[in-house]
Amino acid sequence: MEAWRRDLKPALAPPFVVLAPWHAWQGEGIPLVIEPGMAFGTGHHETTRLALMALARHLSPGERVLDVGTGSGILAIAAEKLGGKALGVDVDPSVLPQAEANARRNGVYPQFLLGSLEAALPLAPFGLIVANLFAELHAELAPLYREALAPGGRLLLTGILKEKAPLVREAMADLTPLEEAAEGEWVLLAYRR
Ligand code: SAM
Repeated sequence: MEAWRRDLKPALAPPFVVLAPWHAWQGEGIPLVIEPGMAFGTGHHETTRLALMALARHLSPGERVLDVGTGSGILAIAAEKLGGKALGVDVDPSVLPQAEANARRNGVYPQFLLGSLEAALPLAPFGLIVANLFAELHAELAPLYREALAPGGRLLLTGILKEKAPLVREAMADLTPLEEAAEGEWVLLAYRR
C-alpha cells in the first residue's frame, strides 16, 4: 500500500492537475483533489483527461452543467471550479458518498443524484452536458441528451473507443459537431444543440 501510494503520480489535464490527498504540488494548474477509491475517475484514464480538458474549452462561468456517470465526481467538481453550477448523476449508489466527499475536499458543492439522465430531466435545461460512458449507451441516450440540453447547449461525450465513434456520430446527426479530440485509443466528440 505504501509503495502504491508513493508511485501514484499527479495526473495532468491542463488547465487541471489531479492530485491524491497526500500529494504536495507546487506546480501550475487548477488542483482537483480526488481520493483514489472504488469510484472511477482519478484522472489517470485517457477519457477522464479528455473530458477535463474539453470542459475547460467549452464551459462558460455561471452555466448549468450535467455530469452523467459522475463516478468520483471529478467532472462535476472540475465544472464547479470553472465557475459552473453542476449536477452529477450516477446509477451506482456506492459512488455518490465518494463524489460528495471529494467535492468537500475541493471546497465546492455540486448536487449529486442517484439515477441517469431521467433523474436530471426535471432539472433541465443544461448549458453543458458531459458524459464519460460508452458508445452504445451514448447512442441510446441521444434523444434524452437533446431534451436535457438548452438551445445552443454543448454536449461532450467520451468513453468512446475510436472504432466505435461512427456509432455515436450517427446517433448525434441532428446536432452540430464542434470538435473531436483523441488520446490513445479513446475519443471525445463535442456537439452543439
Ligand atoms: N465521470 C467519471 C470520469 O469521467 O472519470 C467517471 C466515469 S466512469 C467511466 C462511468 C460512470 O458511469 C460509472 O460511475 C458508472 O456507474 C456510471 N454509469 C453507468 N451507466 C450509467 C447510466 N446509464 N447513467 C448514469 N451513470 C451511469
